[in-house]
Amino acid sequence: MGEGAPIPSNEAERLKEVAKFCPAGGDSDEVFDKIVAMTSAYFNAPITLISIVDEHRQWFRARVGLEATQTPREVSFCAYSTLDNSRLEVLDASLDTRFKDNLLVTGAPYIRYYAGAPLITEDGFTLGSLCIIDTAARTPMSALDVDMLNGFAELVMMRICHMRSRNFVDPPTGLFNRLKFEEDIHQTIRVKSTCEVYAIDVIAPKFLNDIVKALGYIFAQDLILAIKSRLQKLLPDTCLLYKISPTRFGFILKEQQTPEHICENILHNFKTPVACHGIPIPMQVGIGVLPILKSQELQQDWLRLVVSAADEARDRKLGWFLYEPQFDAAQQRAFMLLSALPEAVNADRQFSLVYQPKIKLPSGTCHSVEALIRWTHPVLGNISPAEFIPLAEKTALIASIGLWVLKAIIQQAVAWKARGLRLLIAMNITVSDMESAEFVDTLIHEVEKHGLEPADFEVELTESMLMTNPKEVIRQLERVRKFGVAVAVDDFGTGYSNWAYLKKLPASTVKLDQSLISGLCTNKNDKKLVKTLIELAKGLGYRVVAEGVESEEVLELLTQWGCSEAQGYLIAKPMSSKALEAWIVQRS
Ligand code: C2E
Ligand code: CA
Ligand code: CA
Repeated sequence: MGEGAPIPSNEAERLKEVAKFCPAGGDSDEVFDKIVAMTSAYFNAPITLISIVDEHRQWFRARVGLEATQTPREVSFCAYSTLDNSRLEVLDASLDTRFKDNLLVTGAPYIRYYAGAPLITEDGFTLGSLCIIDTAARTPMSALDVDMLNGFAELVMMRICHMRSRNFVDPPTGLFNRLKFEEDIHQTIRVKSTCEVYAIDVIAPKFLNDIVKALGYIFAQDLILAIKSRLQKLLPDTCLLYKISPTRFGFILKEQQTPEHICENILHNFKTPVACHGIPIPMQVGIGVLPILKSQELQQDWLRLVVSAADEARDRKLGWFLYEPQFDAAQQRAFMLLSALPEAVNADRQFSLVYQPKIKLPSGTCHSVEALIRWTHPVLGNISPAEFIPLAEKTALIASIGLWVLKAIIQQAVAWKARGLRLLIAMNITVSDMESAEFVDTLIHEVEKHGLEPADFEVELTESMLMTNPKEVIRQLERVRKFGVAVAVDDFGTGYSNWAYLKKLPASTVKLDQSLISGLCTNKNDKKLVKTLIELAKGLGYRVVAEGVESEEVLELLTQWGCSEAQGYLIAKPMSSKALEAWIVQRS
């Protein structure tokens, strides 16, 4: 086998080109098959191969006369072409010092004659070769045959390039796709010292999905085409538009232009709905802008950054958002928190519960508390649930947090019961807790196992929980109610709040949102609204709790209006169970 096939000096770059042009495992292709068949017939060669030389092997994109689909690189004849991009002809391998010990010469298929024409990219990298092989020695090829073999190799290269460009196109729109976008960003940075990359979210993926369901796939496709032609008109003539995901476009600006100007122009234009088959469809546009400097050439995840900036722009209704390093820092923190959560759930001391009392009005006595979770991260310190709960809700981790809280509350209830203290304990739950039977099963099981009273527990949920799988959520909530545990609607009076939603929920308590309560004394509208909400909710038989009570005046008004209970910093901040016990003793 000698010392094996040589390695060219530009090997690392060459391998990248191979991965780009000839990703391994491509489907068989009729054109390649035809070319090898023609080459084999023309040269009367028993074996003809299109061989791609990878890091450790050569593999055959198409082949005639050989069973094997690949061989190790060290026995590859074709690998020699990668050295100097030149044609290789071996008349009798058994007499050639480079090949006489080669396993393919000493054993099957007993190669004697070999002629290979390199497959060279525009940038001058050899991917492999088109080669003919005979088991008998031959005399040198004529000049005409050399031209023919080179000609066939050029055909192979044309096909390779064609297949690659096909990989670059988003067929429904005919635009270049994400792959090409990434490649062009690299190319631009290489040539220019700086550029700006834009990602445009035109429509929420869920909304597009709804459109497909309601109006059909063709309609959705035509809508995207209409959006595309609108966008194209808004970009400078020389600027290419790319389709980088089902609901996202992208473009690259090379000249210094102010993003304000470009973005405001697009946003302004898209305030007018896009008409498709005569139906006006409103757009929800978010644009992310990412400036890139040549010095950042090695950073690879531009697409992630610009796409998150666009998401951010749409989620926060900012219109457009210029990527800022601290924004990425926020993402990295989110990532760090999420990856630390599984350990926190299992660790002994990271999570804890604090309790905030609610007092009855007008008596001021305390019979119920809300449990609130606290997380002390070993390095980052205290993390607010307002930060980590919404993050966890986007992952499967939220379920284990819900179960952790449930078990901790049960333990606390057992401890309080043993000390003769009876309190209604409310816990905050999220939609995932009610989307399957597991949480409610555990709740029922734990309460029964410890001989506790279901009536001593309450779950707090927001109405937004009904937005996703309402049927299952309601089914589980009904089980909760039937078991005897109370259900409270949290943050009432904001967001989706309406009575129709409320009626669908098997709730016993309404908690008025703190944003309404805190402005009560200064905001006339809030005053009217809260008074009406209390009257209506009580009229419908709900217990009404006001949260976020921070001043005596507010407490006074709520008492006058007949609010059932109050909770807030004025009364007490959330505290440890020990502190709560002392607080209760001190009040009585
Ligand atoms: P929430 O359920 O609306 O809880 C009320 C939040 O307001 C708590 O913040 C509480 O400490 C705070 N608060 C209470 N009184 C006042 C007041 O007078 N003024 C002001 N400005 N704030 C007051 P916290 O503990 O940071 O919790 C934030 C949110 O995190 C909660 O909002 C709840 O949605 C969520 N959360 C907390 N604990 C849990 C939990 O165990 N499970 C789940 N799923 N979510 C939880
Ligand atoms: Ca709550
Ligand atoms: Ca609340």
